Amino acid sequence: MLVDNHGREINYLRLAVTDRCNLRCFYCMPEHGIKYVNRKDLLTFEEMARLVRVFGSMGISKVRITGGEPFVRRGIMEFLDEITQMDAIREVNITTNGTFTKDKIPRLEAMGIKSINLSLDSLDKQRFFDITRRDLFDDVMSTYHRLVESSIKVKINMVVMEGRNIEDIYSMLELTKNEDVAVRFIEEMPFNGTDGQGNSSFWPMKQILEHVERKYAIKKLQDAPNSTSSNYSIDGYKGSFGIIAAYTRTFCGTCNRIRLTPQGTLRTCLYGEGKVNFRDLIRDGMTDDELGQNLKRVLNVREKDGFEAEKLRAGASPASESMATIGG
Ligand code: SAM
Ligand code: SF4
Repeated sequence: MLVDNHGREINYLRLAVTDRCNLRCFYCMPEHGIKYVNRKDLLTFEEMARLVRVFGSMGISKVRITGGEPFVRRGIMEFLDEITQMDAIREVNITTNGTFTKDKIPRLEAMGIKSINLSLDSLDKQRFFDITRRDLFDDVMSTYHRLVESSIKVKINMVVMEGRNIEDIYSMLELTKNEDVAVRFIEEMPFNGTDGQGNSSFWPMKQILEHVERKYAIKKLQDAPNSTSSNYSIDGYKGSFGIIAAYTRTFCGTCNRIRLTPQGTLRTCLYGEGKVNFRDLIRDGMTDDELGQNLKRVLNVREKDGFEAEKLRAGASPASESMATIGG
């Protein structure tokens, strides 16, 4: 079992398999994109599989594949095949923008992917384009429809932003009426790759909840342990919705996760900086035992919460890198 210096059990790895993406969501990266990591500096799938195996032997049992857009990297399906067969890994989930996902759903179902978080910030084609800067709304919607027919649990991630998609909050909730989907409203964070431009369209959790309650009678649901979302349902509706206080950071006390960036940097907090680079350790010839010791070492100096981690960043510079380089 892996435990950090605050007594929190760590069993969840978020693995960003690439920093590349075919969309340009304005809250994640600038219009011209970000400076991608050189190909040779990215972890290979072989290196990622080794790390998942080593971390799995130490207590990691749940892995989320994210990015960048996971499905733009060649070899992703074979990699998923490999990690879903590892005994220690009991759950593999994926976060995707849904643009290349539809045709892969039968294979993802067959390999036992438990849940897919589909990022969808608007149900309106024009607003979707304005946010993502790409005309791929129809592709994402057909992925959504195929997903709800599949055995994979579907969650929709919607970043809530003033002046961008407030109109979509109620229509997203209507999706939960007849489908067993979980819509998750996410507070905007400053991870947009624009050097301190911040998250100026941010709506805090409280405001989102008040907005929902203005129209609906809602019921609080029991949150799963370590859940980042505070979850609810609407009377008579089949699905549920949740709010993720990603910026106000109310859930750090039970945080059970670590992150590996596409170039192999391990982050013990989204808001902090990398603590060790596992790509370098692997390429320097470290044994599995030594890799494990390095993981334990950084978990022993883990910050208490996202505020402390942000304060300790080099030069106390505010978090501003693109989420595609960390894995959301
Ligand atoms: N490309 C995939 C996708 O969009 O689902 C996976 C990577 S993306 C970085 C993962 C999640 O991070 C998405 O749901 C996205 O909406 C969220 N995200 C990105 N930038 C964010 C920001 N500045 N604030 C809040 N959420 C953000
Ligand atoms: Fe790409 Fe996901 Fe970032 Fe949008 S949020 S630009 S889809 S990585």
